[in-house]
Amino acid sequence: MEKQQEPKAVIVIFGATGDLAMRKLFPSIYNLYYNGQIDENVAVVGAARKPWDNETFREHVKKSLMNKVDSEEEIPDSFLSRFFYESVDVTEPSSYQNLQHLITTLEETYETDGNRMFYLAMAPEFFGTIAQNLQAYGLKDGQGWTRLVIEKPFGHDLPSAQKLNNQVREAFDEEQIYRIDHYLGKEMVQNIEVIRFANGIFGHLWNNQYISNIQITSSESLGVEERFHFYNQSGAVRDMVQNHMLQMLALLAMEPPIKLETDEVRSEKIKVFRAMRPIKPEKVDQYFIRGQYGAGEIDGNPVKSYQEEHEALESSNTETFVAGKILIDNYRWAGVPFYIRTGKRMAEKAAKIVVEFKNMPMNLYYDEKDYQQPNLLVINVQPEEGVTLHLNAKSNQPGIQAEPIKLSYSYNCKERISAPEAYEKLLLDCMLGDATNFTHWDEVALSWKFIDSIIEGWKMQKPDFPNYKAGSKGPEAANQLLEKDGFHWWPIKDI
Ligand code: NAP
Repeated sequence: MEKQQEPKAVIVIFGATGDLAMRKLFPSIYNLYYNGQIDENVAVVGAARKPWDNETFREHVKKSLMNKVDSEEEIPDSFLSRFFYESVDVTEPSSYQNLQHLITTLEETYETDGNRMFYLAMAPEFFGTIAQNLQAYGLKDGQGWTRLVIEKPFGHDLPSAQKLNNQVREAFDEEQIYRIDHYLGKEMVQNIEVIRFANGIFGHLWNNQYISNIQITSSESLGVEERFHFYNQSGAVRDMVQNHMLQMLALLAMEPPIKLETDEVRSEKIKVFRAMRPIKPEKVDQYFIRGQYGAGEIDGNPVKSYQEEHEALESSNTETFVAGKILIDNYRWAGVPFYIRTGKRMAEKAAKIVVEFKNMPMNLYYDEKDYQQPNLLVINVQPEEGVTLHLNAKSNQPGIQAEPIKLSYSYNCKERISAPEAYEKLLLDCMLGDATNFTHWDEVALSWKFIDSIIEGWKMQKPDFPNYKAGSKGPEAANQLLEKDGFHWWPIKDI
């Protein structure tokens, strides 16, 4: 793996006038600059169709930072002056010639050693065109490294992902492609490996002898909002499960890598994807259930149903909730269900992982009415970041009785330093040539293969939507999915 400690690069952001650049990329670049992780040798080129000049673009970047600083004056000119704008239409050859000229000039001014990062913050239909044009017009062949960062969604099924990958791979090698899954940049998702591989008490018990089931939840209280057009074509299983949920599952289930290096970690994750038991379309209902929210209440305020949010969503059959049971057919995990659930307009906004350990073989401290709570390891991914271990200990009542207690560690309290945002870490990793927390094509392909047969099964039947109230915990069928195995979902909040 090529590595360098002090990033030097021209970062070109295609789609620099868009939402992602504004909300995530500029603030992340600012934080990297503010924390001294990038300095003199980085310049940023914004590229989009709007006929902006450098000054307009810098004002736009400034606006994006307003929740990071108290006043505009605080944003140093030394930071803003490294942002440049080139008006481009990515389908037009002349755009690439102009861009090449600007990049070459900046490479000299900022002494970036000819390193180039092309960040595609644009609709996926442009990914192939941009990659091929970067090659055709020589932008890919700088004096240093060239890396291509690609946003999700990477296809909408396996054939479309394969087609997109072929287009991108005609121009770039796999080692140059950094497919973003921003969950992999989250502090607590990166912590899964450390918790597992640096602690004997978990490392030794992390298997089907001691773990009864694992639950991964990512719930949102928001609805679809202005992303409705994209979301309605995608749905929860494509938007969340194919990428973020399966990536967390892979980190929870993989074998320890022999080294913490990109290829080693990826190859262990790929083995997990290969071991996931495929779900036959005709049996989909046994393993996966879907839902769509009806009208309800969030924080005491009435909210509309999905279908009422926009006229384009009337009579839509797109799922806004999905829960599933995934089995991993390998020696370590045979017989342990991994349950996942994700949904919009749920009662709580949270992402968390609950590892439920098997109970003691004999229940000494509880009678039949009073049930012994199993030990749980809870990894809070967001909004709280931390770890909680649920144990049983002696209660201070007379007699020898046990009661559940919690050992908690919250990262939010840690040294009052806020954890870097996922995008911040991933941008830096990319500049340093560390692709560990980006997804390899094999992971993308195997996860689409798994998801495609679920979608195929769903296409055979018309869903009865809406089937859960906005502000609830999702459809009743999600509870039954676990109950038939003798389990139940652990709460999303206060656990
Ligand atoms: P967006 O707000 O619609 O921005 C799209 C950008 O593309 C704009 O800057 C637009 O600028 C530019 N553009 C469109 N056609 C162009 C052309 N022919 N030539 C040059 N530029 C063109 O989209 P977004 O929300 O930022 O999303 C960008 C990508 O990130 C998508 O793949 C999306 O799925 C992914 N993503 C977004 C988010 C998010 O939170 N927004 C989260 C995860 C993933 P002009 O109109 O000025 O050309």
